[in-house]
Amino acid sequence: MVVVLQFVKRVAAIVLRFVFLIIVFVGLTYLDSSVTSVFDYLIYILFGALLLIGTYFNKQKAVLLIGLFLLMSAPLDIFGKGYFDDVIITNGIAVLLAISTLLLGLFQEPMRLSTLATLILLTLLQTLAMFAAAYYVGSGAVVVTMDHRTPLGLPAFSLGTLSPEAVFILLVSFAGNTLKELLVPHGFASLTVSLLMSLGIFHGLPRGMEVPPESLFLVWGLLTAVYVFREIYQVSYIDPLTELPSRRALLEEASKLTGGYVVAMADIDHFKKFNDKYGHDVGDDVLAFVASILRQNVRGSVFRYGGEEFTMLFRKGSLDEVIKHLDEVREKVANTKFRIRRRAAKNPSSAGEVTVTVSMGVAEYGNKYDSFSEVLKAADKALYRAKRKGRNRVSK
Ligand code: GH3
Ligand code: MG
Ligand code: MG
Repeated sequence: MVVVLQFVKRVAAIVLRFVFLIIVFVGLTYLDSSVTSVFDYLIYILFGALLLIGTYFNKQKAVLLIGLFLLMSAPLDIFGKGYFDDVIITNGIAVLLAISTLLLGLFQEPMRLSTLATLILLTLLQTLAMFAAAYYVGSGAVVVTMDHRTPLGLPAFSLGTLSPEAVFILLVSFAGNTLKELLVPHGFASLTVSLLMSLGIFHGLPRGMEVPPESLFLVWGLLTAVYVFREIYQVSYIDPLTELPSRRALLEEASKLTGGYVVAMADIDHFKKFNDKYGHDVGDDVLAFVASILRQNVRGSVFRYGGEEFTMLFRKGSLDEVIKHLDEVREKVANTKFRIRRRAAKNPSSAGEVTVTVSMGVAEYGNKYDSFSEVLKAADKALYRAKRKGRNRVSK
């Protein structure tokens, strides 16, 4: 049920994003050409700023993408738009972006220098080939498209100025990335979906409503900017091991609280034993395992406080209601077997199933504890009572 709900939510988010981008592009068609001509300069300022920020924070994929946008837009500006064949350029940009984002999506950051260099070279060659084709075989290719015969001999249909091959590549990469997006609703896959969506809308706009390519590049620049800033935000607010919000995020949330909340601290029982017996990698797996059970089951916000300790924040419910709920979560952790990965274990023969338990301490904001740090301290004391009483329990 929860899984279905999450799936529906993500599909809805994608549809909403599509609608949002359509509104942006339709809005752009209403802009006067004196306004859109300013975009010509604006995109270079935006691209330049993003290159600097991306390089500073080592956001390689964003930097490569911006480099690609520059390679695609600069020749059009330098030589004038009439210089190259329009049909090849628009198809070429679609194919180039689809291939590049798909390719970039396959790599993890940070990439090795040799990988980076290969990707840059590939992009350069593809862009060069695109502009060379648009310059030399331009008119011939136009005739082929006009004739409703395409290079691959596919039955021709027209979607704006896009050839069937470009549409096909767009759809494949779109479907692939959308699927990935449904599973991983953030990061580079999400940006890819937005970029390809906006490209599709750009080409799909009916005749008479076309927007200039600078507008498309500006939208891409803004989407990439949002991606870069979200990635930078993640570095300080999301713990990479458990993917839970970090202590910094907790403190920020806490500063906004005005009272009427319950705080709980959870600590994995005998966690040191997992590290000592199976190695640090298994210890890390146990942490991620407990974090994911907490995230999926706790009716409140979950943070990684540090080490093997988690903080939970409840803005609704009384102390007793929260304790009852957390006791169910505690039982869920104890009843879910943890599988030790053979490859992660220090000693491969120790692979198998083990039980992990957690202890929790809960405290409520009120007359006795009237600041977040006091409530937190009280929850921590309650946690130690749970430990003393024998662990695998919830105390107040
Ligand atoms: P108790 O039931 O009393 O909580 O015992 P414990 O062993 O869980 O508690 P203790 O505080 O003695 O040990 C916590 C250990 O957690 C010590 C530290 O090495 C380990 N630890 C902290 N952060 C990480 C991490 O990110 N990864 C791994 N693998 N271990 C960690
Ligand atoms: Mg501890
Ligand atoms: Mg512990």
